[in-house]
Amino acid sequence: MKILLFLLSAVWLHAAEAPVTLVIHGGAGVTRADLSPEKEAACRKVLEEALQSGHKILHDGGTSLDAVQAAIILLEDSPLFNAGRGSALTSAGTVEMDASIMDGQKHAAGAAAGVTSVRNPILLARLIMERTPHVLLAGQGAEAFAREHQLQFEPAEYFITPEQQERLRKAKKAQASATPLSDLTLRMGTVGAVALDKSGHLAAGTSTGGTMNKRLGRIGDSPIIGAGTYAEDGVCAVSCTGHGESFIRSVVAYDVAAHMKYARSDVATASRRIIHEVLPKHEGKGGLIALDAAGNIATPFNTPGMFHAWIKADGAIHIAIFEE
Ligand code: ASP
Repeated sequence: MKILLFLLSAVWLHAAEAPVTLVIHGGAGVTRADLSPEKEAACRKVLEEALQSGHKILHDGGTSLDAVQAAIILLEDSPLFNAGRGSALTSAGTVEMDASIMDGQKHAAGAAAGVTSVRNPILLARLIMERTPHVLLAGQGAEAFAREHQLQFEPAEYFITPEQQERLRKAKKAQASATPLSDLTLRMGTVGAVALDKSGHLAAGTSTGGTMNKRLGRIGDSPIIGAGTYAEDGVCAVSCTGHGESFIRSVVAYDVAAHMKYARSDVATASRRIIHEVLPKHEGKGGLIALDAAGNIATPFNTPGMFHAWIKADGAIHIAIFEE
């Protein structure tokens, strides 16, 4: 009898497990002309590694927060994406990074803005969520808090890559000659992740160097909860990339959740609506990744391309860049 009960509860527990899912993005500023076969292969490799590290955590019964964090750390450490090492540069040629994370179970959130030397801003965002009564810390105060908690720091040379210096040079040249380059060619690779764990909890995170040639002190949507990042258990987890000012004005990440909650939209309809109907009205360019509590995903973008990738319980890797 006892054995039967044990077996029944094991079957019930298994049946009650949510379908683990991880979706990541590497920015919506990619064009075919920009992407050599070598660069594409290198980007795909990093996206695959990020998916695998997050999926292992989910598969082993870890939390969606840990999976989001693990995937984003790998993307921040890669110079190929605009977050951590390889961040876009300010008009002064320096790095000012923003990141945020949200725990859909606890409705908790943490974010850091304008940090210049913390190796992994996503770790700082998580610490702010878990060890302070605040949501968002900026600049020197955020770095002092990171130092108190022994986060890893790096010198400016670590973050600033020759490729981003070249993009800044082009951006400044275009600005001086009043022939603005398409800002899409100058903005690449903000990173983000959304995950669903076996317990059915959702989490989202985003990390970025911001927009190329931005003014010192400019903060985009990525560290703004509700604009660049949002997660709520039972509803959805969202991470955005694109023209931050537009995403703040349209409160994009929360708009997806609001449509699901109040208009009973499914995740694909809610995500498509904001990216393809609302944002274009305000010249907002970009994309998002979204995931609902049943493991359904949406990855709309209104730019030529967005690095995005996903993995579900079966462990199969899916990577996409342009509209297939
Ligand atoms: N959304 C980011 C920002 O405006 C940039 C990006 O996604 O590429 O800071």
